[in-house]
Amino acid sequence: MNPETVAVGTGRRTAYLVVLVVLPLLLVALAVPAAWGWGIGVRDVVIAVVMYLVSIFGIAIGYHRLFTHRAFRCRRPLRIALMLAGGMAVEGPVTLWSAEHRRHHKYADREGDPHSPWRYGESGLALLRGMAHAHVGWFFTARRRSNRRHWAPDLLADPDVRRFDAWYPAVAALSFALPAVAGGLWSMSWTGAWTALFWGGLVRYAVVHHVTWSVNSIAHTFGDRPFATRDRSSNVRWVAMLTLGEGWHNWHHVEPTCARHGVLRGQLDPSARLIRWFELAGWAYGVRWPDPARLERVSRIP
Ligand SMILES: [Zn+2]
Ligand SMILES: [Zn+2]
Repeated sequence: MNPETVAVGTGRRTAYLVVLVVLPLLLVALAVPAAWGWGIGVRDVVIAVVMYLVSIFGIAIGYHRLFTHRAFRCRRPLRIALMLAGGMAVEGPVTLWSAEHRRHHKYADREGDPHSPWRYGESGLALLRGMAHAHVGWFFTARRRSNRRHWAPDLLADPDVRRFDAWYPAVAALSFALPAVAGGLWSMSWTGAWTALFWGGLVRYAVVHHVTWSVNSIAHTFGDRPFATRDRSSNVRWVAMLTLGEGWHNWHHVEPTCARHGVLRGQLDPSARLIRWFELAGWAYGVRWPDPARLERVSRIP
């Protein structure tokens, strides 16, 4: 029997804090003089936007909907591509990400949830503290992390996933090497490589992190809750747009295995759209699309 959590040492928690918070913030601060000094050209914008889309789709479709929730099945090349795309977000190996997230769903906004904004209470200050904890604080404060052997034995049994996790540091390095190489080749200059590394690598990964984390902090605090759930999951349009569909978080907690999160009228879900295209191309199959009858039944709206 594998315990739900395993201990995390101070060294590792400090590393989380430095890599996930301190370093990206420093880099964003550096971006200000850099922006004045070099400016940002069309080339860097294009590279940064492409890297952003790859990272966010990789997390939303790959890490989250495919590997964590099994919302669809797909051919091996696409599975590997989605895993690599998720790796570009530099949010850890897929087994660890899935383990933390599966525990979040089991205990959402209750004792045991690794990142609930309601952890410290409902009053203004407690909620502010809780949001900081849900957004990023938990990376450092959690003395125990979710045990992969308990939460993700299916992923640990998958040789492709095991290989990906073993090579994870190289994948993370690729997240920075790719934009640098693209910028260098595009401009045929070292300066082009540096500015692309800066904007498409460093600034982009800092932004991707905060956008992803806003699902945990914002979309469990503000927004509307058309569906009745035991937790405080909610829908926030701007979060949904930045996360390419993940901010329609209320339905996701009703039916975590559903491939579509934005199920109501006007809720654009680019990740679901892309899964649909994969399905039409024959690369994805067994997609769990929402059942209209069930949607009707659980909706609070008459
Ligand atoms: Zn949630
Ligand atoms: Zn989920």
